[in-house]
Amino acid sequence: MKKVIVIGAGFSGLAAATGLADKGYDVTILEKNSMAGGRARVFEAEGFTFDMGPSWYWMPDIFDNYFAKFNKKTSDYYDLVRLDPSYAVILEGNETIALPAGVDKLEALFEEMESGSGAKFREFLRQAEYKYDVGINQFVWKPSRSISEFVSVKLLYDVVRLDVFQSFAKHIRKFFTDDKILKLMEFPILFLGATPENTPAMYSLMNYAEMQLGTWYPMGGMHKIVKGMVALAEEKGVKILYNQEVQKVVVNNGIAKQVITSQGTFDTDAVVASADYHHVEDKILGQTYRNYDEEYWDKRVMAPSSLLFYLGVNKRIPKLLHHNLFFDEDFSLHAHEIYTEPQWPSKPLFYASAPSVTDSSVAPEGCENIFLLIPVAPDLEDTEEMREKYYSILMERLEKYCGTSIRDSVVYKRSYAHRDFKQDYHAFKGNAYGLANTLMQTALLKPTLKSKKIQNFYYTGQLTVPGPGVPPSLISGLLVASELDKEMR
Ligand SMILES: Cc1cc2nc3c(=O)[nH]c(=O)nc-3n(C[C@H](O)[C@H](O)[C@H](O)COP(=O)(O)OP(=O)(O)OC[C@H]3O[C@@H](n4cnc5c(N)ncnc54)[C@H](O)[C@@H]3O)c2cc1C
Repeated sequence: MKKVIVIGAGFSGLAAATGLADKGYDVTILEKNSMAGGRARVFEAEGFTFDMGPSWYWMPDIFDNYFAKFNKKTSDYYDLVRLDPSYAVILEGNETIALPAGVDKLEALFEEMESGSGAKFREFLRQAEYKYDVGINQFVWKPSRSISEFVSVKLLYDVVRLDVFQSFAKHIRKFFTDDKILKLMEFPILFLGATPENTPAMYSLMNYAEMQLGTWYPMGGMHKIVKGMVALAEEKGVKILYNQEVQKVVVNNGIAKQVITSQGTFDTDAVVASADYHHVEDKILGQTYRNYDEEYWDKRVMAPSSLLFYLGVNKRIPKLLHHNLFFDEDFSLHAHEIYTEPQWPSKPLFYASAPSVTDSSVAPEGCENIFLLIPVAPDLEDTEEMREKYYSILMERLEKYCGTSIRDSVVYKRSYAHRDFKQDYHAFKGNAYGLANTLMQTALLKPTLKSKKIQNFYYTGQLTVPGPGVPPSLISGLLVASELDKEMR
């Protein structure tokens, strides 16, 4: 059996390892932290269970397909519930729109907001379905190592129909004029780490994912997905070693031979690095073997980092749904302060999640588990004072919206931002979600998944193809497993 070392046990590392073990490789994952999941780790405090990162379960088909590939079902590992309403959007003056689950109900809601928009919504969704189908079933499965993968009449035809060269902002305005509808439709684009003006219209596939396929939640929390993936990986024979910070890869004549960690040395026939791409190049491989220099990395457009708060509150909070998006301030100003002139936001938009609304297991009885997230520019100076300043801003707005005091009922509080992303994941510039999905950072234009200098060295994860997010990270892992296997054979 050929040995493969996978660096990192996030979604992409677990998927790559499981895919390779399934093909007959002897796979060991070396993970620096004490548990699997990477950005989707979990922690417990004062009776609360906090998911540390992802909270939106979108594209259930990708998760289903992942487990089905190994003859399993998601329900073998966790129970999914569909959220209805999917989420609330809070607009200026605390006006709230709760988005119902299901296209019929959404159509009626749109019609109420803008006469004639119901039918346009159907047409928008019809086009988005095509984009989802081509984008998710074909494009994201391309390893993007050569232009030849994209040269086919059918694919070129698809590229045109996918509206790759039109911005999402323009595309959406062909259908709707109502300001509130535009806000609702542009929200999922924020997950892609760029403004709607800089995101290809192709990504209306995100609206399809959200509105047609639905917003789901695995009971017990998002980390249940990780637990399921770990159980499956181990069932396939993958060994996962924790507290093993990879420090160096020994390369002889362009072939990776050994991986050295804080605890020992591991012989190998191939390496898949799922840790932060820049960190692997800069600190683990060094100058001789890196694919890209610092100038290249400095020019990348990063998706935002985040300032997060995990809060345990000793009472129930009225009005909060499971997902709540506070769009009550000017979006363009916040976007400007993330992308154009990076700085701490003057009037932040933020996201509040209260999984305890759906799931009583994540908080003690009568309590609320709250997760707050402000998207912020990467690489900002991250100090305690700054975090506290934003805690006060958010709590004030949250208390006003919910009509109750919250601060005096907080029994557990932890903040998390750039410094933590760097320390925990070696995140380049303290990024939370990798590279922005701009046109110039799509497919072939992303950092490649294969080393150009080491024959048996591959990359996977949110900084390479197909991109950030849980579903793309799963796909990235499976893609690399298949590329490595093709070449090793
Ligand atoms: C706050 C937040 C909210 C998010 N929300 C969502 C959401 O709602 N829905 C969604 O789909 N996506 C969401 N995402 C994005 C999603 O979580 C990521 O895109 C995905 O988890 C990335 O997986 P990965 O395997 O590429 O990287 P990671 O999860 O970062 O895994 C890399 C692993 O490598 C390990 N590692 C690093 N350096 C070393 C080393 N030297 N040696 C050994 N191991 C090392 C790390 O510890 C880590 O475990 C969110 C992300 C964040 C941060």
